[in-house]
Amino acid sequence: MGKVAEIPVIWLQGATCTGCSMSVLNSIRPSIANLLLEELFPGKHINLRFHMTLMAGSGEIVLEILRETKESFPNGYLLVIEGAIPTACEGLFCTVGEKDGKPTPFMELTKELTNNAIAVIALGTCASFGGIPSGRPNPTGAMSVVEFMHSNGINKPFVRVPGCPPHPDWFVGTCAHIVLFGLPKPDEVDELGRLKLFYGKLIHDNCPRRGYFDTGRMAHKLSDEGCLYEVGCKGYVTFSDCPYRKWNGGINWCIDNGHPCIGCCEPGFPDVMSPIYERFFEERLPKLKLDEATGRLILVTGQD
Ligand code: SF4
Ligand code: SF4
Repeated sequence: MGKVAEIPVIWLQGATCTGCSMSVLNSIRPSIANLLLEELFPGKHINLRFHMTLMAGSGEIVLEILRETKESFPNGYLLVIEGAIPTACEGLFCTVGEKDGKPTPFMELTKELTNNAIAVIALGTCASFGGIPSGRPNPTGAMSVVEFMHSNGINKPFVRVPGCPPHPDWFVGTCAHIVLFGLPKPDEVDELGRLKLFYGKLIHDNCPRRGYFDTGRMAHKLSDEGCLYEVGCKGYVTFSDCPYRKWNGGINWCIDNGHPCIGCCEPGFPDVMSPIYERFFEERLPKLKLDEATGRLILVTGQD
C-alpha cells in the first residue's frame, strides 16, 4: 500500500449554535465516517485533530492537541473556523480553556492558530460574514473570521463556505477541492471568496417558481401557488446551488417546501434579509469594499 498523506485539520468553534457542525455531520455522500476515517481520495486522508463537539476528552489534555499539532505539522494545517469571533470586552464573551489561571479569549486562540495555518475555511455564515451573532445591536462585537484577520493584519488565504447552516456538500466539496487541486485559484471563487462551484449561480435564475415571477403570479401567503417574492423570498439576491443540489440527501429545499429563501448564504444575513416575511428591497444590500491585501471584497463594518 502506498503512503497516505495526512492533511491535518483544526476545527475551532466560536460564537456558534453548532449547527454548521451538525449539518456537516449529516453528510450523506460521503458519510462523515467515510470522510474522517477513510481516505478522502486514494492516498489522502483528512486528519481532524481538534473539534470541540466531536472530541471525547476535555480540558487541558485536549487543548494540548493544539500545541502538539503546531509542532508536529510545521508545514501548517487547514484551520476551519465555525462561528463568529466576539471582540468586545477583550473577547471575554467567548473563551476556550485557561492560561495562567485566566480564560483564553477565542479571538486570541484564533489569532495564534491562523498564524500557522495553510489556509482558513470560514464555515457557515457567522464565520464568513458575522451572521446572527453580529446582528444588531451586536453587544459582543462579533465579526467574521475574515474581518477579524483583516483588522489584525493577518493575511492568510481563506475560503468562505457560508450558509445557515452550510450544506454538507459545500464543506466536503471545498475540502475535496483543496485536497485535490490546492487552494482555489482566483477564477474559481467569486469576489467574496466563495467557490463558484457551489455559490456561482443566483437562486432566482434556477428557481422552479421563476415562471410565476416572470408572469407576475405572486403568492400573497405562504401556502399560495406562485412566486414567493411578495412574502419575503431573498432567492432574488442569493447565490447558491440549493435549487438543484437540494437538502437532506437531495430530497427537498426551502422553496420546494413552500418557504421563501431567507438569504442565509449572503453577507449581512440576518439583518439585511429581515423582516424575513417581507418583500426585499435592494437598497438593503450591505456595502462592500475592496481589500487591497487579498483583492477580495469585504463587508464594511458598522453600517446601519
Ligand atoms: S420564489 Fe424566490 S427565487 Fe423563486 S422566482 Fe420567486 S423570488 Fe425568485
Ligand atoms: S434556499 Fe436560501 S435560505 Fe434555503 S438553504 Fe438555500 S440559501 Fe439558505
